[in-house]
Amino acid sequence: MLRSHTCGELNINNIGQEVTLTGWVQKSRDLGGMTFIDLRDRYGITQLVFNMELDPGLCGKARKLGREYVIKVTGKVAERSNKNPKMPTGDIEIIAESFDILNESKTPPFTIEDKTDGGDELRMKYRYLDLRRNPVKRNLELRHKISIETRKYLDSEQFFEIETPFLIKSTPEGARDFVVPSRMHSGQFYALPQSPQTFKQLLMVAGYDRYFQLVRCFRDEDLRADRQPEFTQIDCEMSFVTQEDILNTFEGLAKHLFKTVKGIDIEEFPRISYDDAMRLYGSDKPDIRFGMEFVELNDLAKEKGFVVFDKAELVVGINAPGCGNYSRKQLDKLTDFVRKPQIGAQGLVYVKYNEDSTFKSSVDKFFDQEALKTWAAKLGAKPGDLMLVLAGATDKTRKALNELRLEMGNRLELRGKDVFKPLWVVDFPLLEWDEDSERWHAMHHPFTSPKPEDIGYMETDPGKVRANAYDMVINGVEIGGGSIRIHNKDLQKRMFTLLGFSDEEAQDQFGFLMNAFEYGAPPHGGIALGFDRLVALFGGSDSIRDYIAFPKNNAGRDVMIDSPSGISQEQLDELGLKIVE
Ligand code: ASP
Repeated sequence: MLRSHTCGELNINNIGQEVTLTGWVQKSRDLGGMTFIDLRDRYGITQLVFNMELDPGLCGKARKLGREYVIKVTGKVAERSNKNPKMPTGDIEIIAESFDILNESKTPPFTIEDKTDGGDELRMKYRYLDLRRNPVKRNLELRHKISIETRKYLDSEQFFEIETPFLIKSTPEGARDFVVPSRMHSGQFYALPQSPQTFKQLLMVAGYDRYFQLVRCFRDEDLRADRQPEFTQIDCEMSFVTQEDILNTFEGLAKHLFKTVKGIDIEEFPRISYDDAMRLYGSDKPDIRFGMEFVELNDLAKEKGFVVFDKAELVVGINAPGCGNYSRKQLDKLTDFVRKPQIGAQGLVYVKYNEDSTFKSSVDKFFDQEALKTWAAKLGAKPGDLMLVLAGATDKTRKALNELRLEMGNRLELRGKDVFKPLWVVDFPLLEWDEDSERWHAMHHPFTSPKPEDIGYMETDPGKVRANAYDMVINGVEIGGGSIRIHNKDLQKRMFTLLGFSDEEAQDQFGFLMNAFEYGAPPHGGIALGFDRLVALFGGSDSIRDYIAFPKNNAGRDVMIDSPSGISQEQLDELGLKIVE
């Protein structure tokens, strides 16, 4: 190595040693007789001192060093008179004796500081400079740790890490595929995998029993905030297992990661059915860091003369503890909140439970004190609380109340970033009806097994069929999901028929899988966890971009390498492609 030590390791025990460091000039301060330089590398920052009296030539040269110059410096470790307890190397400095410039640097377009002056776009364009900053570096270090601990845990559980191909075949199910034209087979295309789903199932047919891969997946979806067209999954599959075995194994992984990476013991990992999640939280990814569960009020609220409730399919409320003193203005704000088009409620009914045990509500005309008291009893409200009630069509109302519940959770600061509450949501419906295409879609994917006791409804009442499918949810974020798979050719065929595939289409697209099922496919199931999202959650951030070394921007572009971009006419010709303007 060109260096004897890193910029992060010298301390009081090294005093008097002759050392050589390499790194980037973070900043320099010229104090007349002395020049101080902060030298930075991946490991930290060490202060260098150049003394005008001791070596005017060297000091003069040092003064000319610009920000981000790469240098190699040799000198003696000395105790600092002005110690900096905030830095691991803050007790010492290096009295420089010589240095070499290994490379010069242009002035960077933004400051390489924890709080930089660079805007998003600029930092993305110069991502290699952004990556020099501590916050980004810490994020990638966290990502590294989580990947290593994931591998350790899965290895200890007998999982094999096996790679599956990136150039595969386009299928219509799921999101849109990214496709790659084939030069050798003109007019034909590969597709990039949306997930290694069918390959991992084939590995089970092959007898590999426990597979995993930290794998890139590609989905050409319309970009929503914080979506990346390519992202990483912890993709896993197991044979000879029940749903319970999979939940336990991956509960184990989550606990291992929390313990080893964050030093947190996860005690509880509750399981809740999809139906209960929708009924109690209006969401299939409930945030259970706080309570405020939904309470349905149909029996107390309907047929009392209030037409909004009488017309409604569902009247449902939450109790916001300690919010009984909300002002008119605050209540109006909440009403505006639920009326926003993306939330979609018509209005909001409130009931204040006053400290003197009386009630004040927006529906006093229809409900007397006695009636409101029964609401309070059902909602578990106490004096000083605020009950918030929505009414309307069931799904829409639940969705709106979910948003309101989360909003109240934020207001009451019940959603702390350093509290982690994982859970499993289980028993998802197998299918969902798609209004646009007027057909059933697989809620998870077409390889998911129906619950054996519900198979009989597949043709008669498809909406009623529940799946052996599950999601891992942490703090209201869907971290991943999976299912027990179909491993029987005939059942898989019935599923494709339900999804509107003709026999030929099914054979053409998934024949390889159905054929494999005729060669001794074991019962199997698996899961995929969104690795980027998991890392962001551990890091306490909502943005997965910050945890990816070279992410795309919100428009799906890599502004650093300027991609996507055109290709030459020659390439187009070779591929047999024609651009139609
Ligand atoms: N392949 C599925 C997905 O990407 C996960 C699974 O079922 O294992 O969502």
